[in-house]
Parts: sequence; C-alpha cells; structure tokens
Amino acid sequence: MQTIASILAHEIGHCIGFRHTDYMDRNYSCGGAHTNEGASNVGAILIPGTPSTADANSWMLSCINSGGNRPFNVNDVIALNYLYK
Ligand SMILES: [Zn+2]
Repeated sequence: MQTIASILAHEIGHCIGFRHTDYMDRNYSCGGAHTNEGASNVGAILIPGTPSTADANSWMLSCINSGGNRPFNVNDVIALNYLYK
C-alpha cells in the first residue's frame, strides 16, 4: 500500500511541476543503461538548495521497487517549500 501512495504522490508531483530527480540518468533508480531524459519540452530548472545530481530516496525518482516507500526527503521538502510556500 505504501508503494501505491508513493506512486500517487509522485504522479501528483508531475502535475504540480516537478521532474524526475534523476532525469539526468534514470539508471540511478531504474537500473539498466544510462538514460538522460534531457531538457524535454519543458526544460529543467534546478531549485536552489537542492542537489544537481540524482537524489537518494526522493519522491520524484523515476522508478520505485515493488514494496518501496518514498516519503518526502529533506530536499523534496526544500523544493516543495520553494515553489508552494
Ligand atoms: Zn515520474
């Protein structure tokens, strides 16, 4: 159940403007080959105070394992507060 909640929170994250925190290399959370999502058609804006590299346990990582749980990490909270507080 926690995995479903994590996925729903992740998808809502996209709806409110967040990209994957490992967009520069999906291999970080998904495994497999190095895959850079690139700028896409929306660009990628680094939020001040958050890392420019893949962020361990972020709720916006590309992939999650079955049974995984991803509540907001410290950097996720910084990003949410930056955009919506
Ligand atoms: Zn996603």
